[in-house]
Amino acid sequence: MKIGVAGAGIGGLAAASLLAQDGHAVTVFDQFGAPRPVGSGLVMQPVGLEVLDRIGAGDALRRLGQPLHRMFGQEARTGRVVLDVAYGRGADRKGIGIHRAALFHLLYRAAEGAGARIAAAHRVTGRDGRNLLFETGRAGPFDLIVDACGAHSPLSPLRSRPLPYGAVWATVPWPADSALRVDRLSQRYRRADRMLGVLPVGAMPDQPTRRLAAIFYSLPVAGFGAWRATQFEAWQREAVTLWPDFAPFLAGVMGHGDFTFASYSQGQMAHPWDSGLAHIGDAAHRASPQLGQGANMALLDARALQLALRRARGDEALRLYAGARRWHVLAYQMLSAAFTPQYQSDSRALPVLRDHVLAPLSRIWPASRVLTRLVCGDLVPPMPALMVPR
Ligand SMILES: Cc1cc2nc3c(=O)[nH]c(=O)nc-3n(C[C@H](O)[C@H](O)[C@H](O)COP(=O)(O)OP(=O)(O)OC[C@H]3O[C@@H](n4cnc5c(N)ncnc54)[C@H](O)[C@@H]3O)c2cc1C
Repeated sequence: MKIGVAGAGIGGLAAASLLAQDGHAVTVFDQFGAPRPVGSGLVMQPVGLEVLDRIGAGDALRRLGQPLHRMFGQEARTGRVVLDVAYGRGADRKGIGIHRAALFHLLYRAAEGAGARIAAAHRVTGRDGRNLLFETGRAGPFDLIVDACGAHSPLSPLRSRPLPYGAVWATVPWPADSALRVDRLSQRYRRADRMLGVLPVGAMPDQPTRRLAAIFYSLPVAGFGAWRATQFEAWQREAVTLWPDFAPFLAGVMGHGDFTFASYSQGQMAHPWDSGLAHIGDAAHRASPQLGQGANMALLDARALQLALRRARGDEALRLYAGARRWHVLAYQMLSAAFTPQYQSDSRALPVLRDHVLAPLSRIWPASRVLTRLVCGDLVPPMPALMVPR
Protein backbone atom coordinates (compact mmCIF):
# COMPACT_ATOMS: atom_id res chain seq x y z
CA MET A 1 0.00 0.00 0.00
CA LYS A 2 0.98 3.62 -0.43
CA ILE A 3 0.77 5.08 3.08
CA GLY A 4 1.07 8.71 4.19
CA VAL A 5 1.86 9.23 7.88
CA ALA A 6 1.11 12.69 9.28
CA GLY A 7 3.44 13.45 12.22
CA ALA A 8 6.95 12.14 12.91
CA GLY A 9 6.56 11.77 16.68
CA ILE A 10 6.66 8.57 18.68
CA GLY A 11 3.58 6.93 17.12
CA GLY A 12 4.24 8.18 13.58
CA LEU A 13 7.84 7.00 13.41
CA ALA A 14 6.93 3.66 15.01
CA ALA A 15 4.11 3.12 12.51
CA ALA A 16 6.40 4.14 9.63
CA SER A 17 9.05 1.58 10.71
CA LEU A 18 6.60 -1.28 11.17
CA LEU A 19 4.62 -0.62 7.98
CA ALA A 20 7.75 -0.10 5.87
CA GLN A 21 9.14 -3.37 7.29
CA ASP A 22 6.03 -5.06 5.87
CA GLY A 23 6.80 -3.70 2.40
CA HIS A 24 4.41 -0.73 2.25
CA ALA A 25 5.61 2.48 0.60
CA VAL A 26 5.57 4.91 3.52
CA THR A 27 6.13 8.68 3.57
CA VAL A 28 6.07 10.57 6.89
CA PHE A 29 5.30 14.31 6.89
CA ASP A 30 6.14 16.57 9.82
CA GLN A 31 5.96 20.28 10.42
CA PHE A 32 9.49 20.49 11.81
CA GLY A 33 12.05 22.28 9.65
CA ALA A 34 14.68 19.67 10.42
CA PRO A 35 14.46 16.50 12.54
CA ARG A 36 14.11 17.78 16.07
CA PRO A 37 13.06 16.22 19.34
CA VAL A 38 10.97 18.13 21.85
CA GLY A 39 10.30 17.68 25.54
CA SER A 40 12.11 16.08 28.40
CA GLY A 41 11.90 12.55 29.74
CA LEU A 42 9.45 9.69 29.72
CA VAL A 43 9.20 6.10 30.86
CA MET A 44 9.17 3.28 28.36
CA GLN A 45 7.13 0.47 29.92
CA PRO A 46 7.48 -3.27 29.20
CA VAL A 47 4.60 -3.21 26.65
CA GLY A 48 6.28 -0.36 24.76
CA LEU A 49 9.67 -2.06 24.89
CA GLU A 50 8.17 -5.11 23.22
CA VAL A 51 7.10 -2.94 20.27
CA LEU A 52 10.51 -1.25 20.14
CA ASP A 53 12.08 -4.72 19.92
CA ARG A 54 9.93 -5.44 16.84
CA ILE A 55 11.06 -2.14 15.35
CA GLY A 56 14.68 -3.10 16.06
CA ALA A 57 15.33 -0.20 18.47
CA GLY A 58 14.89 -2.05 21.80
CA ASP A 59 18.53 -2.95 22.49
CA ALA A 60 19.80 0.55 21.73
CA LEU A 61 17.10 1.97 24.01
CA ARG A 62 18.16 -0.35 26.83
CA ARG A 63 21.78 0.80 26.39
CA LEU A 64 20.97 4.52 26.41
CA GLY A 65 18.11 4.56 28.90
CA GLN A 66 18.07 4.07 32.66
CA PRO A 67 16.44 0.88 34.02
CA LEU A 68 13.79 1.69 36.62
CA HIS A 69 12.68 -0.88 39.18
CA ARG A 70 10.35 1.21 41.30
CA MET A 71 8.09 4.24 41.33
CA PHE A 72 8.35 5.87 44.72
CA GLY A 73 6.66 8.91 46.27
CA GLN A 74 6.39 10.47 49.74
CA GLU A 75 4.26 13.19 51.26
CA ALA A 76 6.70 16.07 51.74
CA ARG A 77 5.78 17.16 55.22
CA THR A 78 4.93 13.85 56.93
CA GLY A 79 7.40 11.63 55.04
CA ARG A 80 4.59 9.11 54.62
CA VAL A 81 5.13 6.75 51.65
CA VAL A 82 2.17 7.27 49.34
CA LEU A 83 3.42 5.64 46.13
CA ASP A 84 5.53 2.51 46.04
CA VAL A 85 5.14 0.35 42.97
CA ALA A 86 7.75 -2.27 42.12
CA TYR A 87 8.05 -3.53 38.56
CA GLY A 88 8.40 -7.23 39.46
CA ARG A 89 10.97 -9.89 38.80
CA GLY A 90 11.15 -10.87 35.09
CA ALA A 91 14.23 -9.75 33.12
CA ASP A 92 12.19 -7.24 31.10
CA ARG A 93 9.74 -6.31 33.88
CA LYS A 94 11.20 -2.86 34.33
CA GLY A 95 10.67 0.62 33.01
CA ILE A 96 13.34 2.43 31.06
CA GLY A 97 13.68 6.14 31.75
CA ILE A 98 14.66 7.80 28.47
CA HIS A 99 15.06 11.32 27.16
CA ARG A 100 12.64 12.12 24.36
CA ALA A 101 15.51 13.21 22.13
CA ALA A 102 17.16 9.81 22.53
CA LEU A 103 13.91 7.95 21.79
CA PHE A 104 13.26 10.20 18.79
CA HIS A 105 16.77 9.55 17.47
CA LEU A 106 16.31 5.77 17.70
CA LEU A 107 12.86 5.80 16.09
CA TYR A 108 13.93 8.17 13.33
CA ARG A 109 16.92 5.98 12.48
CA ALA A 110 14.73 2.85 12.53
CA ALA A 111 12.10 4.39 10.24
CA GLU A 112 14.70 5.51 7.72
CA GLY A 113 16.45 2.13 7.98
CA ALA A 114 13.18 0.33 7.22
CA GLY A 115 12.82 2.40 4.03
CA ALA A 116 10.30 5.06 5.08
CA ARG A 117 10.77 8.49 3.52
CA ILE A 118 10.62 11.40 5.98
CA ALA A 119 9.57 14.79 4.63
CA ALA A 120 10.28 17.73 6.96
CA ALA A 121 8.74 21.21 6.65
CA HIS A 122 5.31 19.80 5.71
CA ARG A 123 2.71 21.22 8.05
CA VAL A 124 -0.51 19.25 7.55
CA THR A 125 -3.63 21.42 7.52
CA GLY A 126 -6.24 18.79 6.66
CA ARG A 127 -7.13 16.13 4.13
CA ASP A 128 -9.13 15.96 0.98
CA GLY A 129 -10.29 12.35 0.69
CA ARG A 130 -7.13 10.30 0.26
CA ASN A 131 -4.84 13.33 -0.12
CA LEU A 132 -2.99 15.19 2.63
CA LEU A 133 -3.18 18.97 2.47
CA PHE A 134 -0.33 21.25 3.53
CA GLU A 135 -0.01 25.01 3.89
CA THR A 136 1.34 24.96 0.36
CA GLY A 137 0.39 21.98 -1.77
CA ARG A 138 -0.85 18.46 -1.25
CA ALA A 139 0.38 14.85 -1.43
CA GLY A 140 -1.37 11.66 -2.42
CA PRO A 141 -3.57 9.89 -3.16
CA PHE A 142 -2.70 7.39 -0.42
CA ASP A 143 -4.31 4.00 0.14
CA LEU A 144 -4.12 4.86 3.83
CA ILE A 145 -3.43 8.03 5.83
CA VAL A 146 -2.16 7.55 9.39
CA ASP A 147 -2.86 10.52 11.65
CA ALA A 148 -0.02 10.64 14.21
CA CYS A 149 -0.03 14.43 14.70
CA GLY A 150 -0.44 14.18 18.47
CA ALA A 151 -2.61 16.19 20.82
CA HIS A 152 -3.27 19.09 18.42
CA SER A 153 -3.86 17.09 15.27
CA PRO A 154 -5.68 18.99 12.52
CA LEU A 155 -6.96 15.62 11.23
CA SER A 156 -8.52 14.44 14.48
CA PRO A 157 -12.08 15.37 15.50
CA LEU A 158 -11.27 14.52 19.14
CA ARG A 159 -12.01 17.41 21.48
CA SER A 160 -10.43 16.44 24.77
CA ARG A 161 -11.07 17.90 28.22
CA PRO A 162 -8.20 20.16 29.39
CA LEU A 163 -6.93 19.10 32.83
CA PRO A 164 -6.55 21.78 35.51
CA TYR A 165 -2.96 20.84 36.38
CA GLY A 166 0.19 20.76 34.25
CA ALA A 167 3.91 20.72 35.02
CA VAL A 168 7.16 22.47 34.22
CA TRP A 169 9.96 20.18 33.06
CA ALA A 170 13.72 20.53 32.65
CA THR A 171 16.61 18.21 31.85
CA VAL A 172 19.68 18.39 34.10
CA PRO A 173 22.84 16.30 34.63
CA TRP A 174 22.45 13.57 37.27
CA PRO A 175 24.35 15.08 40.25
CA ALA A 176 27.28 13.04 41.55
CA ASP A 177 26.27 13.88 45.14
CA SER A 178 22.58 12.89 44.77
CA ALA A 179 21.09 10.96 47.66
CA LEU A 180 18.36 9.62 45.35
CA ARG A 181 18.49 6.14 43.88
CA VAL A 182 19.09 6.16 40.15
CA ASP A 183 16.89 3.10 39.53
CA ARG A 184 13.57 4.68 40.51
CA LEU A 185 11.21 7.52 39.67
CA SER A 186 11.10 9.63 42.85
CA GLN A 187 8.37 12.12 43.75
CA ARG A 188 7.39 14.36 46.68
CA TYR A 189 3.88 15.72 47.17
CA ARG A 190 2.35 18.55 49.14
CA ARG A 191 -1.27 17.44 49.38
CA ALA A 192 -2.22 17.08 45.69
CA ASP A 193 -1.53 20.68 44.69
CA ARG A 194 2.24 20.46 44.42
CA MET A 195 4.46 17.66 43.18
CA LEU A 196 8.20 17.58 42.61
CA GLY A 197 9.71 14.71 40.66
CA VAL A 198 13.02 13.31 39.50
CA LEU A 199 13.05 10.86 36.61
CA PRO A 200 16.43 9.33 35.66
CA VAL A 201 16.56 9.31 31.84
CA GLY A 202 19.97 7.84 31.01
CA ALA A 203 22.07 9.44 28.28
CA MET A 204 21.84 11.14 24.89
CA PRO A 205 23.19 9.30 21.84
CA ASP A 206 26.00 11.84 21.31
CA GLN A 207 27.12 11.77 24.97
CA PRO A 208 26.60 8.19 26.13
CA THR A 209 28.51 8.53 29.42
CA ARG A 210 26.79 11.69 30.73
CA ARG A 211 23.74 10.55 32.73
CA LEU A 212 20.74 12.89 32.91
CA ALA A 213 17.59 13.46 34.93
CA ALA A 214 14.26 15.00 33.97
CA ILE A 215 12.98 17.12 36.84
CA PHE A 216 9.43 18.37 37.11
CA TYR A 217 7.21 20.55 39.26
CA SER A 218 3.46 20.24 38.98
CA LEU A 219 1.23 23.29 39.35
CA PRO A 220 -2.22 24.49 38.24
CA VAL A 221 -2.35 25.65 34.61
CA ALA A 222 -3.89 28.90 35.88
CA GLY A 223 -0.92 29.36 38.24
CA PHE A 224 1.79 29.18 35.58
CA GLY A 225 1.90 32.96 35.06
CA ALA A 226 2.23 33.54 38.81
CA TRP A 227 5.04 30.95 39.00
CA ARG A 228 6.93 32.74 36.22
CA ALA A 229 6.46 36.04 38.01
CA THR A 230 7.85 34.65 41.29
CA GLN A 231 11.50 35.37 41.91
CA PHE A 232 13.32 32.19 40.81
CA GLU A 233 15.44 31.97 43.97
CA ALA A 234 12.26 32.14 46.09
CA TRP A 235 10.80 29.19 44.18
CA GLN A 236 14.08 27.27 44.54
CA ARG A 237 13.95 27.80 48.31
CA GLU A 238 10.33 26.60 48.42
CA ALA A 239 11.19 23.49 46.39
CA VAL A 240 14.19 22.61 48.55
CA THR A 241 12.16 23.14 51.73
CA LEU A 242 9.60 20.67 50.39
CA TRP A 243 12.31 18.21 49.35
CA PRO A 244 15.93 18.79 50.49
CA ASP A 245 17.19 15.99 48.17
CA PHE A 246 15.99 18.09 45.20
CA ALA A 247 18.69 20.72 45.84
CA PRO A 248 21.57 19.18 43.82
CA PHE A 249 19.28 18.85 40.78
CA LEU A 250 18.70 22.62 40.82
CA ALA A 251 22.41 23.48 41.01
CA GLY A 252 22.82 24.17 37.27
CA VAL A 253 19.34 25.60 36.64
CA MET A 254 19.55 29.33 36.05
CA GLY A 255 15.94 30.50 35.81
CA HIS A 256 12.36 29.94 34.70
CA GLY A 257 13.52 29.84 31.07
CA ASP A 258 15.27 26.50 31.64
CA PHE A 259 11.84 24.91 32.20
CA THR A 260 9.19 24.01 29.62
CA PHE A 261 5.53 24.06 30.59
CA ALA A 262 3.33 21.12 29.57
CA SER A 263 -0.44 21.05 29.95
CA TYR A 264 -2.47 17.87 29.68
CA SER A 265 -5.91 16.82 28.50
CA GLN A 266 -8.06 13.72 28.65
CA GLY A 267 -10.32 12.08 26.10
CA GLN A 268 -10.69 9.25 23.64
CA MET A 269 -12.30 8.71 20.24
CA ALA A 270 -14.96 5.99 20.20
CA HIS A 271 -13.99 5.15 16.60
CA PRO A 272 -10.41 6.22 15.86
CA TRP A 273 -10.76 5.77 12.12
CA ASP A 274 -12.61 6.93 9.04
CA SER A 275 -12.55 5.51 5.55
CA GLY A 276 -8.87 5.54 4.48
CA LEU A 277 -7.73 7.24 7.72
CA ALA A 278 -6.43 5.77 11.02
CA HIS A 279 -5.80 7.94 14.11
CA ILE A 280 -3.08 6.71 16.44
CA GLY A 281 -1.42 7.95 19.66
CA ASP A 282 -2.47 11.26 21.17
CA ALA A 283 -4.50 12.04 18.03
CA ALA A 284 -6.85 9.21 19.13
CA HIS A 285 -6.64 9.35 22.94
CA ARG A 286 -5.03 11.65 25.50
CA ALA A 287 -4.46 11.42 29.24
CA SER A 288 -2.28 12.97 31.93
CA PRO A 289 1.16 11.36 32.14
CA GLN A 290 0.44 10.21 35.72
CA LEU A 291 0.46 6.52 34.75
CA GLY A 292 3.35 7.00 32.28
CA GLN A 293 1.55 5.32 29.38
CA GLY A 294 1.02 7.84 26.53
CA ALA A 295 4.10 7.02 24.46
CA ASN A 296 3.58 3.33 25.10
CA MET A 297 -0.02 3.62 23.91
CA ALA A 298 1.18 5.26 20.69
CA LEU A 299 3.61 2.36 20.12
CA LEU A 300 0.87 -0.20 20.80
CA ASP A 301 -1.44 1.55 18.32
CA ALA A 302 1.28 1.41 15.67
CA ARG A 303 1.81 -2.31 16.27
CA ALA A 304 -1.95 -3.03 16.23
CA LEU A 305 -2.30 -1.18 12.92
CA GLN A 306 0.54 -3.24 11.45
CA LEU A 307 -1.09 -6.52 12.56
CA ALA A 308 -4.55 -5.45 11.36
CA LEU A 309 -3.16 -4.60 7.90
CA ARG A 310 -1.59 -8.04 7.71
CA ARG A 311 -5.00 -9.63 8.26
CA ALA A 312 -7.38 -7.47 6.26
CA ARG A 313 -7.61 -4.71 3.66
CA GLY A 314 -9.24 -1.30 3.52
CA ASP A 315 -11.80 -0.30 6.11
CA GLU A 316 -12.05 -3.84 7.43
CA ALA A 317 -8.43 -3.56 8.62
CA LEU A 318 -9.16 -0.22 10.30
CA ARG A 319 -12.20 -1.67 12.07
CA LEU A 320 -10.01 -4.52 13.28
CA TYR A 321 -7.31 -2.10 14.51
CA ALA A 322 -9.80 0.05 16.44
CA GLY A 323 -11.63 -2.94 17.94
CA ALA A 324 -8.40 -4.57 19.09
CA ARG A 325 -7.20 -1.48 20.95
CA ARG A 326 -10.55 -0.37 22.32
CA TRP A 327 -10.67 -1.97 25.79
CA HIS A 328 -7.04 -1.38 26.66
CA VAL A 329 -7.34 2.32 25.80
CA LEU A 330 -10.65 2.62 27.65
CA ALA A 331 -9.29 0.90 30.78
CA TYR A 332 -6.27 3.21 30.94
CA GLN A 333 -8.39 6.29 30.27
CA MET A 334 -10.64 5.39 33.20
CA LEU A 335 -7.73 4.57 35.52
CA SER A 336 -5.89 7.75 34.57
CA ALA A 337 -9.04 9.77 35.34
CA ALA A 338 -9.26 8.04 38.74
CA PHE A 339 -5.57 8.38 39.71
CA THR A 340 -4.68 11.86 38.42
CA PRO A 341 -6.74 13.92 40.93
CA GLN A 342 -5.02 12.08 43.80
CA TYR A 343 -1.72 13.64 42.70
CA GLN A 344 -2.74 16.74 40.77
CA SER A 345 -5.79 18.60 42.05
CA ASP A 346 -7.00 21.18 44.57
CA SER A 347 -8.85 18.52 46.54
CA ARG A 348 -8.14 18.41 50.29
CA ALA A 349 -10.04 15.15 50.83
CA LEU A 350 -8.43 13.02 48.10
CA PRO A 351 -4.84 13.32 49.37
CA VAL A 352 -6.02 12.35 52.87
CA LEU A 353 -7.76 9.29 51.43
CA ARG A 354 -4.63 8.56 49.35
CA ASP A 355 -2.23 8.84 52.29
CA HIS A 356 -4.25 7.04 54.95
CA VAL A 357 -6.29 4.43 53.06
CA LEU A 358 -5.30 3.87 49.43
CA ALA A 359 -1.50 3.96 49.84
CA PRO A 360 -1.40 1.43 52.72
CA LEU A 361 -3.84 -0.83 50.85
CA SER A 362 -1.86 -0.56 47.62
CA ARG A 363 1.16 -2.21 49.21
CA ILE A 364 -0.76 -5.35 50.16
CA TRP A 365 -1.20 -8.27 47.74
CA PRO A 366 -3.20 -8.48 45.42
CA ALA A 367 -3.40 -4.65 45.08
CA SER A 368 0.42 -4.46 44.79
CA ARG A 369 0.31 -6.96 41.92
CA VAL A 370 -2.49 -5.07 40.16
CA LEU A 371 -0.49 -1.81 40.38
CA THR A 372 2.60 -3.50 38.96
CA ARG A 373 0.60 -4.74 35.96
CA LEU A 374 -1.04 -1.31 35.63
CA VAL A 375 2.33 0.45 35.39
CA CYS A 376 3.82 -2.20 33.08
CA GLY A 377 0.95 -1.48 30.68
CA ASP A 378 -0.61 -4.95 30.58
CA LEU A 379 -3.28 -4.82 33.26
CA VAL A 380 -5.64 -5.74 30.41
CA PRO A 381 -4.38 -7.29 27.15
CA PRO A 382 -3.24 -4.46 24.83
CA MET A 383 -4.72 -5.89 21.60
CA PRO A 384 -6.46 -9.20 22.32
CA ALA A 385 -8.23 -9.66 18.97
CA LEU A 386 -4.94 -9.46 17.10
CA MET A 387 -3.08 -11.85 19.37
CA VAL A 388 -5.38 -14.80 18.58
CA PRO A 389 -3.84 -16.91 15.78
CA ARG A 390 -5.97 -16.90 12.63
C1 LIG B 1 5.28 16.35 30.15
C2 LIG B 1 4.89 15.02 29.58
C3 LIG B 1 5.38 13.85 30.16
C4 LIG B 1 5.05 12.61 29.62
N1 LIG B 1 5.54 11.45 30.20
C5 LIG B 1 5.23 10.26 29.65
C6 LIG B 1 5.77 9.03 30.18
O1 LIG B 1 6.51 9.00 31.15
N2 LIG B 1 5.48 7.86 29.53
C7 LIG B 1 4.68 7.85 28.42
O2 LIG B 1 4.46 6.76 27.87
N3 LIG B 1 4.13 8.98 27.93
C8 LIG B 1 4.39 10.18 28.51
N4 LIG B 1 3.85 11.32 27.99
C9 LIG B 1 2.90 11.23 26.88
C10 LIG B 1 3.60 11.06 25.56
O3 LIG B 1 4.61 12.03 25.39
C11 LIG B 1 2.60 11.16 24.42
O4 LIG B 1 1.49 10.38 24.71
C12 LIG B 1 3.25 10.68 23.12
O5 LIG B 1 4.32 11.53 22.75
C13 LIG B 1 2.22 10.61 21.99
O6 LIG B 1 2.86 10.26 20.80
P1 LIG B 1 2.27 10.75 19.41
O7 LIG B 1 3.14 10.13 18.38
O8 LIG B 1 0.81 10.51 19.37
O9 LIG B 1 2.45 12.33 19.42
P2 LIG B 1 3.77 13.19 19.50
O10 LIG B 1 4.89 12.39 20.05
O11 LIG B 1 3.36 14.45 20.19
O12 LIG B 1 4.13 13.51 17.97
C14 LIG B 1 3.33 14.33 17.17
C15 LIG B 1 4.18 14.74 15.96
O13 LIG B 1 3.31 15.35 15.01
C16 LIG B 1 3.90 16.53 14.54
N5 LIG B 1 2.81 17.42 14.15
C17 LIG B 1 1.88 18.00 14.93
N6 LIG B 1 1.03 18.74 14.21
C18 LIG B 1 1.43 18.63 12.92
C19 LIG B 1 0.95 19.16 11.70
N7 LIG B 1 -0.12 19.96 11.65
N8 LIG B 1 1.60 18.83 10.56
C20 LIG B 1 2.69 18.02 10.58
N9 LIG B 1 3.19 17.51 11.71
C21 LIG B 1 2.56 17.80 12.88
C22 LIG B 1 4.73 17.06 15.70
O14 LIG B 1 5.77 17.91 15.23
C23 LIG B 1 5.27 15.76 16.29
O15 LIG B 1 6.48 15.38 15.68
C24 LIG B 1 4.16 12.55 28.51
C25 LIG B 1 3.66 13.74 27.94
C26 LIG B 1 4.01 14.96 28.47
C27 LIG B 1 3.47 16.23 27.84
